[in-house]
Amino acid sequence: MAELWPFHGPHPAPLLAVHERLTWYSPANRTHRVRVTRHSCECRSILFELCHAAGQAFIRRTIRGNGDPVAHETDWLLTAAAECLYQRILRGEAR
Ligand SMILES: [Zn+2]
Repeated sequence: MAELWPFHGPHPAPLLAVHERLTWYSPANRTHRVRVTRHSCECRSILFELCHAAGQAFIRRTIRGNGDPVAHETDWLLTAAAECLYQRILRGEAR
């Protein structure tokens, strides 16, 4: 796909047979401003975003089906750990 679309990001790899099953929580009702620094491609029905807030970071997963988008998020982690987790999700090593 050409890089003309500004929302184009990487496509997550297929999930590996052996992978870590992450726990996905309903979004924490925190008042912090959330800054998204990386995100997977908008053309897929499941979007992964690396989010930062209050000196921590987490992955937000948004599933867009027929109805309203449904968002969940991982535990809040140290920034480096969240960055690592985001890469592992894209490689299909964790979901
Ligand atoms: Zn795409």
